Amino acid sequence: CVLVGTRVSEGHENYVTAYNMLTGIRVGVSRCQAKMDRALTPTDFGSRHKYTFDITGNELTPSAKYDFKFKDYAPWVFRHLRQLFHLDAADYLVSLTSKYILSELDSPGKSGSFFYFSRDYRFIIKTIHRSEHKFLREILYDYYEHVKNNPNTLISQFYGLHRVKLPFGRKIHFVVMNNLFPPHRDIHQTFDLKGSTLGRELNEEIPSQNPMCTMKDTNWLRRDMHLQFGPLKRQIFLTQVKADIDLLSSLGIMDYSLLVGIHDLSRGNRDKIRNSILSVYDPNVSHHQVPSTGVGESNAHLLRQVVNSTGPVSLDRSCNRLPSNQFMERSNFMFYSDDGGFQATDEMNQPANHIFYIGIIDLLTKYSYVKKAEHLWKGINHSESAISAVPPPEYANRFYKFIETGIKPNHLTLKPVPMFKQQ
Ligand code: ATP
Ligand code: CA
Ligand code: CA
Repeated sequence: CVLVGTRVSEGHENYVTAYNMLTGIRVGVSRCQAKMDRALTPTDFGSRHKYTFDITGNELTPSAKYDFKFKDYAPWVFRHLRQLFHLDAADYLVSLTSKYILSELDSPGKSGSFFYFSRDYRFIIKTIHRSEHKFLREILYDYYEHVKNNPNTLISQFYGLHRVKLPFGRKIHFVVMNNLFPPHRDIHQTFDLKGSTLGRELNEEIPSQNPMCTMKDTNWLRRDMHLQFGPLKRQIFLTQVKADIDLLSSLGIMDYSLLVGIHDLSRGNRDKIRNSILSVYDPNVSHHQVPSTGVGESNAHLLRQVVNSTGPVSLDRSCNRLPSNQFMERSNFMFYSDDGGFQATDEMNQPANHIFYIGIIDLLTKYSYVKKAEHLWKGINHSESAISAVPPPEYANRFYKFIETGIKPNHLTLKPVPMFKQQ
């Protein structure tokens, strides 16, 4: 299940990897950022910069706690992408690397990827397979163009692509991306939707015990869930989904999901789901230091106090502060501008009682021969609409239809318990 993290601090089995990732990002990103801005050139998309870190340091890299190599891919392209995503360069580095604290998710996907949150919960580092890494480099130009032409795109915002190589030869590829969910709001229900039903069910016992888990298509249908958007928001949202999946389909991508987190304004933050997450960042912060807030009140300022209270560790003083408004960049995006999300509306387009946090995630699966084989195999026993491994255009169509029929302006009730018992 998502959102339950383990703090990665010294002694944790992945501490060295996390330390190396963050050190590499800090040096690589600040090196590129220190230069005068310039227009991108075609070679920027294929470029890579190599850094060798060791305990003594050299003229290119400062000394580090461990020996490792770091590769920064297409740094200029990602610099420009971060600009398009309205990220302040200094904020990015401070949030990610001013203290070497991440929290690791208990492997939420089947793929074996690891997920880490930055300490302010704003960024996610996802380790990816070598083939996904290669694929992102292949599609980077199209991705960049799409982001440029679609300022309100719903697809994952990639901020960096890197590789760490440990002394004994292991290579770890990873991306940095946006966390769709805000730190200051409880997410009462989460769904990962692909538009197919086969194998797309989370055992109902899990949500009844852990409301923070991520449910799937079948759980969504069983609860009669919908995205509560009136005609105006429906139209804007569907137009963007269509533009985004047209890109994914044209690039031969499938297996992506619509990630939907729902905050019920009438419940507010009283469940204190966020509090347990915040405590992950600092063991010195006990739960009572992060009071839950009532309806409509944002506790972002409290989060800031808590995070700041831990004091500086590893960056120089000029970088000790956290961004003054950590989520300001979100206000630039149509779908993330209602308190970090997209607020429900009724049939009269009037604001309703929920905020949706939505994005299209897991974009790096190419419809390769493996998926083709899965399609042939599963296709023998199941109808096309049920299996998830279908060619990209079919995948996109089915995905779109599922979302289109899943939007209704009707009042939404989040049912916390399953509607019927599993057989
Ligand atoms: P698989 O390939 O088995 O589906 P994966 O390892 O590629 O898994 P993802 O599908 O990218 O992982 O993500 C798994 C889960 O992690 C999602 O269902 C969601 O709960 C959470 N997650 C992923 N990306 C984000 C994001 N940008 N913001 C918030 N949560 C996310
Ligand atoms: Ca996935
Ligand atoms: Ca995946």
